[in-house]
Amino acid sequence: MAKDSPKTPKSRSATNPSVGVWAVQCEKCLKWRRIATQEQFEDIRSRFTEEPFNCPNGTCDDPADIEYDASRTWAIDKPNLPKTPSGFKRELYLRRDYSKMDTYYFTPLGKKLRSVTDVTTFLEQNPQLSDVKPSDFSFTSPKVMDDTIPSTALLANSHKKGVASSTK
Ligand SMILES: [Zn+2]
Repeated sequence: MAKDSPKTPKSRSATNPSVGVWAVQCEKCLKWRRIATQEQFEDIRSRFTEEPFNCPNGTCDDPADIEYDASRTWAIDKPNLPKTPSGFKRELYLRRDYSKMDTYYFTPLGKKLRSVTDVTTFLEQNPQLSDVKPSDFSFTSPKVMDDTIPSTALLANSHKKGVASSTK
C-alpha cells in the first residue's frame, strides 16, 4: 500500500457512484482517518508533500476510522493537486465498469462542465472571474485500485475485453 499519498475511498453503491468517504493516511501510524468534507480533503491534498498528514496530537493509538480493504472500492489520488477554485465544485464519478473515474466541474451557478476545455471556455465567457485561471483546474483523476474492485466487475470486464486472466 502506498503510504505517501492521500486516497479517496468510495462507496460501491451502483446508484450513487460518486465519492462516499474521504480519507487520508497518517504518516506515522499509517492508519486511515476520515476527512469530514471534500474541501478539507482537497486542502490537505493540495500541500500533502510539504505537510504530510498526521493524526491530531496523541491520537495515533486510536483505532483507524476506516480500513483499506475490498469492502469498498478505493481510488488513490495524486498529492499536491490544486484545490478547486472557490465557488466551483469538482465531482468524481466511477464508471460502471470500474475502469476509471470521470471528473466534472460545477460553476458557482451550478452549470455542469465536462472537461477543462469547457472550463476554459466558461472562464473566457465570464471575464468577471478573472482571478480564476484554467490552470487552477489542473487535475489528475484518482487511480481506481484494482484490489478493491468487486470480483464480479473484474469478471465482467475481462469477459467484455476477451481477456481470460484476472488482473491479480
Ligand atoms: Zn497516526
